Amino acid sequence: MDKINLKDFTLCELEEFLVLNGEQKFRAKQIFKWLSQGVTDFDEMTDISKKLREKLNEISYISTLSIEKKLVSKIDKTTKYLFKLGDGNTVEAVVMYYKHGITICISSQVGCRMGCKFCASTIGGLVRNLSAGEILDEVIFAQKDIGERISNIVMMGIGEPLDNFDNVIKFLENVNNPLGLNIGYRHISLSTCGIVKNIVKLEKANIPITLSISLHAPTNDLRSEIMPINNAYDVDTLIDACRHYVSVTNRRISFEYTLISGVNDSENVAKILAKKLKGMLCHVNLIPVNEVAETQFKKSGRLAIEKFIAVLEKNGITTTVRRKLGSDINASCGQLRRSSLNSK
Ligand code: SAH
Repeated sequence: MDKINLKDFTLCELEEFLVLNGEQKFRAKQIFKWLSQGVTDFDEMTDISKKLREKLNEISYISTLSIEKKLVSKIDKTTKYLFKLGDGNTVEAVVMYYKHGITICISSQVGCRMGCKFCASTIGGLVRNLSAGEILDEVIFAQKDIGERISNIVMMGIGEPLDNFDNVIKFLENVNNPLGLNIGYRHISLSTCGIVKNIVKLEKANIPITLSISLHAPTNDLRSEIMPINNAYDVDTLIDACRHYVSVTNRRISFEYTLISGVNDSENVAKILAKKLKGMLCHVNLIPVNEVAETQFKKSGRLAIEKFIAVLEKNGITTTVRRKLGSDINASCGQLRRSSLNSK
């Protein structure tokens, strides 16, 4: 029988697991706390009897991550990790220091199968999903490494979180648990390329996280060219789902928009975007494209960016340009893993 990673259980499931194995339910809370603190060995669980620790060791295990590579920015302390999972696969996470707290950007899959043309994470396709415990491990071990509390999470690393829906929901529940890392849902953002059927599921799950949509283009012609998911769910279907999400949850949606020179950055495109988003409780976050070695896309010029912003703001849409942290350790998500794979 394969051993079970205890971090893949919710607290409820851990209780059931213990009861099924003839143990007392209240032990689950003690174990859950230890797991979130990043213990790597059952013997570190000092309030658990030796007998139970031995039994747990026989039937289960505690997942860990090792740091394969770590880059720290000399400018703003931004720290990029290449984490090695139990099976040797690698994922990236980035720790950023903001005034409002420390934020981690985490991965949800090894690779990605969404195929966005400008994105480094998808180049080798999807290898596998991360389990709920493996996603949590990114936060646990980054926090352990920096020695300070991480208070915010963005699911904007490698992978498509809504393509790994069940594990991501379980992770969210666990990271939010007061006995665990206790990170409030309102301090968590999840970014999706737009798998509409799972946006609907997320809306029904009633978890008050912030939803970000990687829109990147307001017309089907343009969007299908750079994002294959648009062939499954077109722009209007996606935006309708977003309007519904906002009306039911009353929560502002954030639209990510990567500006690519000559592709999606004209004033005319900005006007179409403004029209599509008109009246929605939302926010547009512009990201000058990070130039990826394997693609030919180039950043928009400053003037084009300013004109694009002006159109949106004139139409009452709040717009920001993503501040670039860690520019001296340039490796936007997916690039560190790619360069490591390429050098093997
Ligand atoms: N799969 C999810 C989350 C991961 S990507 C999603 O698509 O939203 C996080 C964000 O970075 C997305 O908005 C993605 O489109 C964007 N992104 C990917 N590659 C980029 C690049 N080279 N330059 C700028 N943004 C990029």
